[in-house]
Amino acid sequence: MSSADETKKLVIGLYGEMRLSMMLHELGWQVHRAYIDEGIDFTITKYWCPQCKTYSNQYIRYRNYKGSRKKCVTNLCEHCKTTQLQVVSRYLQVKTSEGKETSRGDVRAFSFHPKIRYDMGDDVFYVWIAVFNDKIDKRCHFYIFNTKDVSKFDNINLDAYQITDNQKTTLLIDPSGEVKSSGRIYDYSCFNDIFYMNFDALE
Ligand SMILES: [Zn+2]
Repeated sequence: MSSADETKKLVIGLYGEMRLSMMLHELGWQVHRAYIDEGIDFTITKYWCPQCKTYSNQYIRYRNYKGSRKKCVTNLCEHCKTTQLQVVSRYLQVKTSEGKETSRGDVRAFSFHPKIRYDMGDDVFYVWIAVFNDKIDKRCHFYIFNTKDVSKFDNINLDAYQITDNQKTTLLIDPSGEVKSSGRIYDYSCFNDIFYMNFDALE
C-alpha cells in the first residue's frame, strides 16, 4: 500500500471513530479511547441506579461554602439522590472500511478484518462502520453486534478460524446501508435484520 493510501485509510478510520463517538455521546455514553493497544478500541460507560433501575447522571449538589455557592459532584443517582451509582461498561472493537467500486452500480465492497474472533462475553462488541466517502458527502452506516454473534454469519468452528491474518469478511453494501451479499456458504441477513444501527444492543 502506498503511503498516500495508508494516510487515506487512517483518515477514514479516524472519521468513522469520530462519528461513532458523537453518536454514543448523544445516547448518553461516556467514550474512552484506547491509547496504545489494539483489540479493544473504545471503552464506553454509563451510570446505572440499582434502586431506580434506570441510567442516571451523577447528582450535582450545591453547597454554600464560606459565603459562596459551590458545585459538588456526588456519586449519587440524580433521580433518587440517595443511591450510589454503578458503572456499566462496554468494550468495542471498531472497524471502519471505505467501500470499493464494484460492477453493481452504486453498491460497494467493504472488507472487515476483526482482530478478536471469539466469543468474549456479554460486554464485548464489534462496531463495523461502512463509509461511503463521496466528494461532497460522507455517509456512515454502523453495524453493531456482540462478539458471540459472529456465529450468525461465519463458521467459528473452522480450525483456521482464529488465525486472523487471512480472515476477512467482505460485504456488498448499497448507499442506504443495506447489505446485499448473499453468500453461498454464509447468511448475511443478520446485518440488515439485527445489526444495522443496533445501538440498543449496548444498553
Ligand atoms: Zn436512583
